[in-house]
Amino acid sequence: MFVRELSREECIGLVSSNHIGRLACARNDQPYVVPIQYAYSTNRLYGFSMPGRKVDWMRTNPRVCVEVDELAGRESWKSAVIYGRYRELADTREGHDEHMHAWSLLEKRTNWWEPGGLKPVEEGVAAASHHLFFVIDIDEMTGRAAGEDRVDLASH
Ligand SMILES: Cc1cc2nc3c(=O)[nH]c(=O)nc-3n(C[C@H](O)[C@H](O)[C@H](O)COP(=O)(O)OP(=O)(O)OC[C@H]3O[C@@H](n4cnc5c(N)ncnc54)[C@H](O)[C@@H]3O)c2cc1C
Repeated sequence: MFVRELSREECIGLVSSNHIGRLACARNDQPYVVPIQYAYSTNRLYGFSMPGRKVDWMRTNPRVCVEVDELAGRESWKSAVIYGRYRELADTREGHDEHMHAWSLLEKRTNWWEPGGLKPVEEGVAAASHHLFFVIDIDEMTGRAAGEDRVDLASH
């Protein structure tokens, strides 16, 4: 197996053609990682969530990391690691346009709101009302790809 680095354009291609990533945040030296659905647009990831641990932690420490990957086989994969900052999109007069932009990008996927909009049933319906949109402004992105041989790797 050979591994190579992805260019920035290849990283953008990988991130924009996928919609599931692993979002890592940290508080008091404790990392926390959860899968999320996102939409990529011009150096930003847009997401939808209910309040909870990750939102609490990202409000305290907005520095986050997101990993996105495509696995074609054990020796054929691509992944991107994004370093960025969390920002909540308030549905205010000033924030309205970006709020609507996030909504319009995310709603392109069927049932887009479901994974971020539902909590375990025992938490009750009351918890299911205060959803929010957020954005991760990308500071840095790295990528790697693996292939079985050099030729396969170049075309992968
Ligand atoms: C494919 C996929 C897409 C998803 N897309 C989104 C999305 O777009 N937006 C979104 O907000 N959520 C999404 N989720 C759900 C997400 O992974 C979290 O479960 C959810 O956001 C709750 O996180 P929280 O920090 O608010 O947890 P809380 O409800 O505050 O609960 C915290 C507790 O639950 C545990 N916990 C939370 N989530 C998980 C989990 N997934 N697996 C195991 N333990 C968990 C924590 O360890 C902690 O003990 C998605 C999940 C999957 C699998």
